[in-house]
Amino acid sequence: MKITFFGGAEEVGRSCIMISSGRTRVLLDSGVKPEDNSPPQIDDKRLKEVDAILISHAHMDHCAYLPHIYSKGYKGLTYTTKPTMELMNVLIADYMHLANPPDVTKEGLTALGKHFKILDYRKEFQIGDLKCEFIPAGHIIGSALIRVSDGKHTVVYTGDINLTHTRLLEGADLKDITADTLITESTYGGKEDVKANEKEQAPLFMKSIKDTILQGGKIIIPSFAVGRAQEVLLFLDDYINSGLIPKVPVYVDGMINKTMKIHRHNVIFCRKELQMKILMSDYDPFRSPNFTPIESRAQREEITKKDQSCIVVTTSGMVTGGPVLHYLKRWGGNSVNKLTLIGYQPKGTRGRALQDGERELMIDRRKVQIGLKVETFHMSAHADRKQLELIPKKVKGVQRVFIVHGEKEKSEDLKKLLEKSFDVVVPRIGEEYEI
Ligand SMILES: [Zn+2]
Ligand SMILES: [Zn+2]
Repeated sequence: MKITFFGGAEEVGRSCIMISSGRTRVLLDSGVKPEDNSPPQIDDKRLKEVDAILISHAHMDHCAYLPHIYSKGYKGLTYTTKPTMELMNVLIADYMHLANPPDVTKEGLTALGKHFKILDYRKEFQIGDLKCEFIPAGHIIGSALIRVSDGKHTVVYTGDINLTHTRLLEGADLKDITADTLITESTYGGKEDVKANEKEQAPLFMKSIKDTILQGGKIIIPSFAVGRAQEVLLFLDDYINSGLIPKVPVYVDGMINKTMKIHRHNVIFCRKELQMKILMSDYDPFRSPNFTPIESRAQREEITKKDQSCIVVTTSGMVTGGPVLHYLKRWGGNSVNKLTLIGYQPKGTRGRALQDGERELMIDRRKVQIGLKVETFHMSAHADRKQLELIPKKVKGVQRVFIVHGEKEKSEDLKKLLEKSFDVVVPRIGEEYEI
């Protein structure tokens, strides 16, 4: 078996890995880099060799290269879970609109739409001489670990993974999985990345929001449209209903409104507790009366003029684009306001710059002075260092570990931790390994 890394190695973004048995070749993920949409380093000619594409989950760094691949004449199938397919359709349409990537054709997009194959979790399927399986990864709705076996070797690829349950999802299901090779993400693999859990973070997050509201400030929460947005909205809904946060308008802007609907009708993929809550009462947190969707530019303009405390949950999560920029332009100068970061902020993004103390941003070629407070809460859907250490131990039979999807230093840090027990490699882009 051969494993080739085309992206997402020594970096976060453009995940793309080929597994080859000699007879069959599958691509695991095909994403772009979130900060500049740069593609994975796979030559278009090699796309012809690909028999199937398996997508771990619907984040752009794992799936946004699909339109390019189909535009270059790929005729095979893309395998995903149902929520992943539905979310990808929405995210990719938006990406086409905003980024207008080169080489993507109308025909390619149509072909992509016709070549999805939906699979259930824990149901083995065959591609050529490879046996594959999706396993719940606990990261976002529909997210999957991917197991690929040629009968001799078995690889488990984590995609993005979270072991602890959240408001929305159960943690990854690593029960009874056997593999000799693990390809693991390392977003929070660094020495400093032992994170507080939600139980410890929640009261601090709540207090921070309450304080700003009591001072009459506005809170901007930039969020990924899928996953973090729903988690944070359910959190706010809960705390407003129980009186722990004063009742102020919660505006939901951008694609989050569409992805909320997809979560609602795929609630069967969410945690049992959440399903029961919806089933046993009239209350539906996905359609909470506490939320006001922003549906037009005029409406957005109107609320930014209001002199009233409020919370806005909006895209993009890394402040790279989307409506969040509008709110920052309008409210960013006022020190009573607050920007609360809740997800991973890669290098090179405005989110990371703000996190690192930058007080001046370029938005639409204009300098914007940043006076508002910037805070970070770890509500990320990624395993932290403690969990990343556990994963290769929980999967039975692991001998070698490839560390991907992390900044170079973080991947190297995790390597140091794991190499006492396993044969560990931090691959580079373009490298191929025989296992
Ligand atoms: Zn992800
Ligand atoms: Zn990712």
